[in-house]
Amino acid sequence: MRKIVRTLARYSVISAALIFPAVLVSQNHTEAELIKKANSIHKRVLTIDTHNDTALRINNPNSATRVTTGQVTFPLMKEGGLDASLFAIYIGQGERDSVSLIKATEYVKEQLSKFRSYVESYPTVSIAYNSEDLLRNKKERITSVVLAIENGYAIAKDISNLEMFRDMGVRAITLCHNLNNEICDASMDKQSEHNGLSAFGIEVVKEMNRLGIIIDLSHASTKTLFDVLKVSKNPVMASHSGVYSIKNHNRNLKDNEMRAIADAGGLIQIATGRFFLSELPKDSVNVSHIADHIDYAKKIVGIDHIGIGTDFDGGGGVVGLENASKMKNLTIELLRRGYSESELEKFWGANFLRFLKMQKL
Ligand SMILES: [Zn+2]
Repeated sequence: MRKIVRTLARYSVISAALIFPAVLVSQNHTEAELIKKANSIHKRVLTIDTHNDTALRINNPNSATRVTTGQVTFPLMKEGGLDASLFAIYIGQGERDSVSLIKATEYVKEQLSKFRSYVESYPTVSIAYNSEDLLRNKKERITSVVLAIENGYAIAKDISNLEMFRDMGVRAITLCHNLNNEICDASMDKQSEHNGLSAFGIEVVKEMNRLGIIIDLSHASTKTLFDVLKVSKNPVMASHSGVYSIKNHNRNLKDNEMRAIADAGGLIQIATGRFFLSELPKDSVNVSHIADHIDYAKKIVGIDHIGIGTDFDGGGGVVGLENASKMKNLTIELLRRGYSESELEKFWGANFLRFLKMQKL
């Protein structure tokens, strides 16, 4: 029966193509048609960005190291048709003596509470803890915030901190930042310290699996990535990374790393920072360079394993995708390249929803 339905569906597509050949040829769409189509896609499908560093900017708007006008605000997200984002509490890698480790945990706890209070005071925004929350919020036109931590430094050397962070609402943790920590080796660190995942790191991965906290491998070294994939029972994601074959940068993913993540059911979320995308000067890097990385990742792992992690307010953004209000420009570029509506639905959110369910979230 299913086969007959599929066959009939195929015939109806073919006959439609014969009558309206232009319908299926995106290159023939005018700019106005592409904009219209992008608007309707963003209205209909769940759209999610898996990484920004906006929470600390919102928490500390006047701090010397933080800009006061950022790339992500809730009104900008609405304007760009962006329904949800993972907002990471970022902590740079600091000293690892016991006093500094305790301070790191306390700092992230404090920033998390502060950001939570801000979100809770905002009437059209809600914290999403699972796939149902994301879908319900979309239906009710409420923006979703998913809480994350960038750098497992925050866990210090106390495994019970994971459950504490989960109870505070955290659903994803990037295992490390640019330097090695107690958990693992980082891709930008010149030294290998643990030869990948440390003994403590193995416990961290197992506990994150138990609690249903997403393991984020952006910033991890290649050896760490493969070690994690050996230990983790749940699929993992790289929340904001580019393609190494296009831009030789240690933060980017090699083809075999992308394949290994995807084979385990995980996600490659393309970052938008210009240093990850291209050698070109700032003014020349634009949305088409992001789409080049997306095209390449799609070719390697397929449409079911890719998405976007802008890294806004943390180095992300290029010409044409300057902030969260410009997200539809990416959809327009992908439509121009022939991506179908169902492919875009997967890219923007369906893949992430499936991934969340695999974490039992
Ligand atoms: Zn990062």
